[in-house]
This record gives sequence, structure tokens and C-alpha cells, in this order.
Amino acid sequence: MYRIRFHGRGGQGMKTASRILGTALFRGGFQVQDAPRYGAERRGAPMFAFVRAAREPILERGIITNPDLVLVADDSLVGIPAAGVMAGLRTDTVLAIASDTDADTWRHRLHINNPVVILPGIDTDDDDTHIPDTSAQCAGAAAALIGKVSRVVLTEAVTEETSGFGALALEANLETALAAFDAIGLQTGSVVEGAAYDVASSVRPDWVDLSAEASAVAAPNIYAALTSVQVRTGLWRTLRPLLERDKCKRCHWVCGSYCPDGVIAVDDAGYPEIDYEHCKGCMICVAQCPAHALVAVAEEEYRTAKGDGA
Ligand code: SF4
Ligand code: SF4
Repeated sequence: MYRIRFHGRGGQGMKTASRILGTALFRGGFQVQDAPRYGAERRGAPMFAFVRAAREPILERGIITNPDLVLVADDSLVGIPAAGVMAGLRTDTVLAIASDTDADTWRHRLHINNPVVILPGIDTDDDDTHIPDTSAQCAGAAAALIGKVSRVVLTEAVTEETSGFGALALEANLETALAAFDAIGLQTGSVVEGAAYDVASSVRPDWVDLSAEASAVAAPNIYAALTSVQVRTGLWRTLRPLLERDKCKRCHWVCGSYCPDGVIAVDDAGYPEIDYEHCKGCMICVAQCPAHALVAVAEEEYRTAKGDGA
């Protein structure tokens, strides 16, 4: 079974990338799962999408923890452990990164000897099609790295998944996906297929069973105006930015300006004060802080350490 994870930020098109690849593999004769993992209102926040593909029925469900191929659309995520880019990598897992940095430097930085592929020509600017190119590029590159999908099948999959965006977008997506497919060159087919699911060695997930709510409670109608502040988007956060005050230079206009949700205020002493009820955990403030005074911590790890589960 092939297990592929796409990492990016909400809005970069990784869900679409997983759909294009899933459709291509399905058209190529595989049984397929593809699904994203993120919440609503997550634009800019780290997210991932995954694809499983096998010739036999797929008995696995849930997040991929042992990928054969990992694609990263935003290389700033690689340095954030809590984003989970490196989670479960085997020594033969192929790591494909959209980056200006070369493969040897990434291997050195990450202390790995894995095959590292630098995705060529990622264009992160919006063009006149108003959809990101990254989805078609990552899907095209993934299809070539797996080596089980032809150009014709990839063309059919891109058409099926993106024709709804209009003729201009479809043309751009086809050009981008096929260019990324061709650019893989000698590394085509380099992804090693992982072992099939082994029921005997599986571990029961540590999940919480929730009872179903009555529909009037679960999906109420809201007629009042200006209620968005009551939507506690921070509840969906998977990463928490934490301030190390001793490193902070109190240049709050930096982190405060970059925060896409405007949830960084300033306290009386001039330090940034994050509204965790509405911080969605995009980690943009962490990436932009010049003093490295903000660090990313996995929300679950933070709550466990606090012992409050809140
Ligand atoms: S940008 Fe960094 S150093 Fe400046 S106020 Fe924000 S957290 Fe502190
Ligand atoms: S405080 Fe930081 S992590 Fe939270 S939403 Fe703003 S930029 Fe993103």
C-alpha cells in the first residue's frame, strides 16, 4: 500500500492536491482513500491531507503515521516539530519539499539520509486564475515519484478535479501538473511501497467516545448579528504560540501586524498578549518574530503539561 502525506498551510491547495492524486491513482486501477485534516477557518494554519492507494481493499483508516512519501508545500513547516512533517518517516521515505534550499542542505539540517526531492518552480503568487498552483504541482510531482500513473491519467484526474474552477484555471493546472510530473525525471518511481496493514499488531486509538446531540442543539439557527467573536476558533488549534518574555524585544508591531486574525494585543508593559480563545495556531507570528521569542508547542503537549485539558 502507498501512503502519501501532503503538508501545507490552509489555502495552499493541499486538499486539492490529495484529491487530484487520489483520482489519478483510482483511474490507474488502485483502491484509494484521500482526506484532509484541518478545521474550518484554518487559512494560513498548518494542515495536511493524505492519500492511501492499494491494489487490494484498504482496511486502514485515520491519519497516516508511516508515510512512504511526504510532500511539503511550505518549507517553513519543516522546522516546526509540532506540524508533524517528519512524523513517522522511515529511512526510505521520500521527502519532497517546495524550497529554494538544496536537498543536501535539507538532509544536513534534518540529520537524515532519506531521499530528498526539491520541487521545481513552485509559484506561490496568485495568478489571474485566483487559485494556488501548489496543488497541481504537488499532485503532479507525487504522481511521478510514485511512478504508477501515466501522463494521460494525470491529465484526466486534473481535469476531473479542477475543471469546475473554469477553463483558464484548468489550462493553468494542467500545464503546472504536467511540468512538475516531467521535472521529476530520474527519480520517477522512487517511492517504495509500504507493507500492508497488519491487524494483529494494531493498537486501539486513545479516543474519546462522544454521544450524539439532538439536531436542535447540534445545528441551531443563529439570527443575531455580530456573533463571530463568540466562535472560539482557538478550540480547533493544534499548535500554540508561546512567548518567552526574556527574549522578547517588545516590538509588538511585528507579530501584531503579521497575525492574520488580529488576536495579538499589547499588555501594559509593552509585551504581546495573545487571545488564545481566537488564535487559530497558524504559527505565522512564530515564523516572523525576529528575536525568536515565540515558540510553537503542540496543543496536546501543552495541555498535558498543564494538566488542565482546557
Ligand atoms: S515580534 Fe517577537 S520580539 Fe517582537 S514583540 Fe512580538 S514576540 Fe516580542
Ligand atoms: S497569534 Fe500567531 S499563531 Fe495565533 S493566529 Fe495570530 S499569527 Fe497565528
